[in-house]
Amino acid sequence: MTELASAPGERATDTDGNAIAPIHHWIGGATVAGTSGRTSPVYNPATGRQSGAVDLASVAEIDQVVQVAKQAFTTWRTVSLAKRAELMFNIRELVHQRKEEIAKLLVAEHGKVLSDAMGEVTRGLEVIEFACGIPTLLKGEFSEQASTGVDVYSIRQPVGVVAGITPFNFPAMVPMWMWAPAIACGNTFVLKPSEKDPSASVFTAQLLKEAGLPDGVFNVVHGDKVAVDALLEHPDVAALSFVGSTPIARYIYETGSKNGKRVQALGGAKNHMIVLPDADIAMAADAAVSAAYGSAGERCMAVSVVVAVGDAADPLVSAIQERLPKITVGDGMDPASEMGPLVTQVHRDKVAGYLESGAAQGATVLADGRESAPEGDGFFLGVSLLDNVTTEMDAYRDEIFGPVLGVMRVGTYDEALKLINDNPYGNGTAIFTRDGGVARQFQFDVNVGMVGINVPIPVPVAYYSFGGWKASLFGDSHIYGPEGIHFYTRGKVVTSRWPDPATSKVDLGFPQTR
Ligand code: NAD
Repeated sequence: MTELASAPGERATDTDGNAIAPIHHWIGGATVAGTSGRTSPVYNPATGRQSGAVDLASVAEIDQVVQVAKQAFTTWRTVSLAKRAELMFNIRELVHQRKEEIAKLLVAEHGKVLSDAMGEVTRGLEVIEFACGIPTLLKGEFSEQASTGVDVYSIRQPVGVVAGITPFNFPAMVPMWMWAPAIACGNTFVLKPSEKDPSASVFTAQLLKEAGLPDGVFNVVHGDKVAVDALLEHPDVAALSFVGSTPIARYIYETGSKNGKRVQALGGAKNHMIVLPDADIAMAADAAVSAAYGSAGERCMAVSVVVAVGDAADPLVSAIQERLPKITVGDGMDPASEMGPLVTQVHRDKVAGYLESGAAQGATVLADGRESAPEGDGFFLGVSLLDNVTTEMDAYRDEIFGPVLGVMRVGTYDEALKLINDNPYGNGTAIFTRDGGVARQFQFDVNVGMVGINVPIPVPVAYYSFGGWKASLFGDSHIYGPEGIHFYTRGKVVTSRWPDPATSKVDLGFPQTR
C-alpha cells in the first residue's frame, strides 16, 4: 500500500507565525489548486486559531469538475458489478484502517471529541459496508411469458453525475451517506463539503484513489454559494443530494427541481423527547443528557427539547441537573473531554444568545454554559439547561444547534404529541415509557420520520433509510439504505420477444398481454 502524500502546496502563516495550510480541490484523481482567488478560513475551534484556507470554486471550476466527472461516467458505468463490489470492499478496508486519521481531522476542524469523531466514521463505514452488497441491491425483476413468447424485466441504471452538498456537523459521515451508494450504483460524484471543515473529504478522496477507484469517479470541490449555484444550474449534473439547514435545503430542492434535476434535500430539526411518568427516570435522564450535549448539540438528531409529562417533570429535571457538573468540556484531542467547542465563534455566540433570550422570555436558566465554558480563545460554551420553555420562546422556535437543552412541562401525553405534530420540523423524536401500548400509539400518531422508543437518537442502521418529515426533508427520497439506491438509479423496463417465424404477423392493435 502506498503512503499518502501530506497536504500539498504552499503554506502561509497567521500574524503569530502559525501555519495556515492551503486546502485545495480534488479533481480527476489529483489535487488541484483553486484559481478563483477566493478562499475561506478554516479554524481549530478548540484554540480559535485559523489553521487552513480553503479554496472557493468559481463557476468555471465547477464546470471543469463536472466535465471530468461526466467523462469518467462513460467508463465507470460499464464496470462490472463484481469489480464495483470489490472496489467498495477495498474502500471499506482502507477507511477502516485509516479511521483514526480521519477522526483526527474532524476533531481539528469541527471540534468534536475524538471518541465521537471515531463514532462518526464508524457510522459512515456502515453505509460503505451496505454499498459492498451492490450486486444484490441492483437486482431487477423478471416476468417470463408476460405474453406468449414475451418476457418483461426491470433494470436500474445510474443517473450520471451526482453532486453532494454537505453540512459542517458530520464532515465524514454525511458525505459517506451519499458517495458510497452513488458510486457503487455506477454514478460519478462531485462532493462540495462544508467550507468550515473540508479536510476530511480531501483525505477520503486520496483513500478512494489508493483503493483503486478510477480517477474522476469521486471529486471534491470546495466552495460557497457560488459553487452550489453553479452545480444547481449545470446541465450535466443529473442529481443532487443535500444535507444542511432548512432554508438552504428548501432553496436547493426548489432550484434543482426547476432545473430538471433529481433532488433530495435534508434540512434542520427540532427533536423532542417525551418522558412519561412511568419511565425509568435515570435512564431517561442519561439519554437526554447524552443526546442533548453529545457533539455539543451540533447533531441534526440531537435532543433539543425534553417534554416532561405530569409527575415526570420534577424528578427528571433534578436527575438531569445532577449529571451536568460531571460533563468535562475541553479540547477534543484531550481524552478527558466529553464535549468539545462549537464550530465557529459566530455560531458559539448565536447559541449563547438563546440563553439570554430564553431568560428574557421567561425560561428558568438552570445551567448557563457561558459561566462554565473553559477559558481561552476556543469557541466553547458549557452545557446549558432551560426549564419552563414554552412554544413562544426563540429557544423553542429555532433550531439552536448547540449544547442548550430545553425542558417543557405538559399535563398529558396528548399535549406532548400535539406539540411535536404542530412543530414545523419532523426529523427525529423519542418517547421514554414502560408502557408498550402508549409507545406503539406514539409510533402510529407522530408526524416524524425517525422515532425512538426508549432510544434517544434513533439514527437508522445502514440497511434502512434516514430522513425526516415536514421541513426536515424536501423531496421524496430518504438518504442511504434502499431509498438511497433508488435515488441514485433510474428504472428501465424491457419487454422482449425473440424472433419466432411461426408467430410472425403484422398487428396494428395496441399490444395486449392476453
Ligand atoms: P448550511 O445549510 O449552512 O450549509 C450546508 C451546505 O450548504 C454547506 O456545504 C454550505 O456551503 C452550503 N450553503 C450554505 N449557504 C448556502 C447558500 N446560501 N446557498 C447555497 N449553498 C449554501 O448547514 P450547516 O450549518 O453546515 O449544517 C447544520 C445544519 O444542517 C443544521 O440545520 C442541521 O440540522 C442540518 N443537518 C441536517 C441533517 C439531516 O439529516 N436532516 C444532518 C446533518 C445536519
